[in-house]
Amino acid sequence: MQGLMMDMPLLISSILQHAARHHGDTEIVSRRVEGDIHRYTYAQCEQRARRMASALTHLGAQPGERVATLAWNGYRHVEIYYAAGGMGSVVHTINPRLHPEQLAWIVNHAGDRFFAFDITFLPIIEAIAPHCPQVKAWIAMVDADRQPVSDKIPNLLNYETLMAQGADDWQWPELDERSAVALCYTSGTTGNPKGALYSHRSTVLHAYAAALPDAMGASARDSILPVVPMFHVNAWGLPYVCPMVGAKLVLPGPALDGKSIYELFEAEGVTYSAGVPTVWLGLLQYVSANNLRFSTLTRTVIGGSACPPAMIRTFRETYGVDVIHAWGMTELSPLGTLSRLQNRHLALSTEEQQKIFAKQGHVIFGIDMKIVGEEGGELPWDGSTYGNLLVRGPWVLREYFRGEGGDPLVYDEQGRGWFPTGDVATIDAQGYMQITDRSKDVIKSGGEWISSIDLENLALSHPAVANAAVIGVAHPKWDERPLLIVALKPGAQATREEMIAFYDGKIAKWWTPDDVQFVEAIPLGATGKILKTRLREQFGDYRLPTA
Ligand code: AMP
Repeated sequence: MQGLMMDMPLLISSILQHAARHHGDTEIVSRRVEGDIHRYTYAQCEQRARRMASALTHLGAQPGERVATLAWNGYRHVEIYYAAGGMGSVVHTINPRLHPEQLAWIVNHAGDRFFAFDITFLPIIEAIAPHCPQVKAWIAMVDADRQPVSDKIPNLLNYETLMAQGADDWQWPELDERSAVALCYTSGTTGNPKGALYSHRSTVLHAYAAALPDAMGASARDSILPVVPMFHVNAWGLPYVCPMVGAKLVLPGPALDGKSIYELFEAEGVTYSAGVPTVWLGLLQYVSANNLRFSTLTRTVIGGSACPPAMIRTFRETYGVDVIHAWGMTELSPLGTLSRLQNRHLALSTEEQQKIFAKQGHVIFGIDMKIVGEEGGELPWDGSTYGNLLVRGPWVLREYFRGEGGDPLVYDEQGRGWFPTGDVATIDAQGYMQITDRSKDVIKSGGEWISSIDLENLALSHPAVANAAVIGVAHPKWDERPLLIVALKPGAQATREEMIAFYDGKIAKWWTPDDVQFVEAIPLGATGKILKTRLREQFGDYRLPTA
């Protein structure tokens, strides 16, 4: 027997329509590439998104066709998310920090037909346009009087001129909720990047789940500033979550330095933020150097790579800001787990609570997870046994775009597919997951595993250390041993011996790095994560003194 409830498709256009109707005067505030601060409301955003959808339809954009963006977090980018997605096309966000060659490869692989970009990226567009013949129009997202001229870009249009051609009475179509809405490529640190193609349904369900109190916990009383870029897995869903709950949305544009972010926090009463750990390193350095305080910020989501416990502690103890440590990936839209306290933890000491905050946390309803051994057997949830982390759920990828890489899933005895995350983790009896390492980063020493994340976190708690990475280096007796690579804070000093002694009593003796190398800066990838592949190349021939 079927249920007798309405069959209303879950569509992203309904999210923006809801915001326009029920939170119509709530603001979206953006720092623009033009340099000024722009502010308008959800009602105006919805109207312009519809106009843009109508203009794109007029240009010939077809259902399912990809509309690419190369843009910062800003109101026009939000409009394109909803215009392209809501009309039945697919918004394809691209990371501008990729090499132009890789960028062109992605544009061609995705089959992008329209391409909207912030003028900051004009030189990149000029470099790739000749190699992307299937793009029918390049759209500069800038005021008409600032429209660039370029003979290297065919059919270069202006976003605002196009907007003016759109119709106000255009209506959002009722689409199949399983149709594609957004496309995002993985960073492709090994091999070519692969596309994760989200549906309306997966995106709306992910937004509902992300908004839950013990997930991101967003509300109409919040002013939310995603530092995480809209090209990094849909800014972790915030451009959907904020209008869904009616939160004010503050978008930092191209200015991602500590000072600019801090100023926007204070000017716009930001209560909530989100970003990768490296972003917060810069912000905390600025705030501490200038003796500042956050007057409205109460919490921030930190994820994308392991959040160092020292950072969680500084935010909480010095600034009264709760850190919500989150784990996810492109293939998960991206949220999987978040670390929040439960009733049972409230009476624990600060030290014990700190251990929970440092974990990647509890799944949100919708995601199921398990850890398995090399043979595929499920491992116990005891907080110490580690294994390969597998997940399933309605916003987890089933297959990559264009079937790239074949069937990625692993099947259980009931024939249910699980997505292998490539992460190694423990899960404790209460269901809190902790990432030990990316499976390719874990250091294999004498048949045992050493977590590079644990060693990095400890190094980061040393006062002289700005950033740190640990990689496994070949060793004749042990296979691999850890090498600590450190970038010191400006003006700070520390010796190899001091760094090694710093681990004494904090970890098992045999985990201690065999050697330390000091570098100017730790190389970071396109989403702000440490580029271990680069470090492994750089120190590939490195001979440890113990070897
Ligand atoms: P991406 O799809 O590029 O966002 O990368 C996803 C990967 O980032 C995950 O599989 C993890 O290896 C890593 N990651 C994300 N969040 C965390 C976290 N909180 N702690 C440790 N690793 C993380």
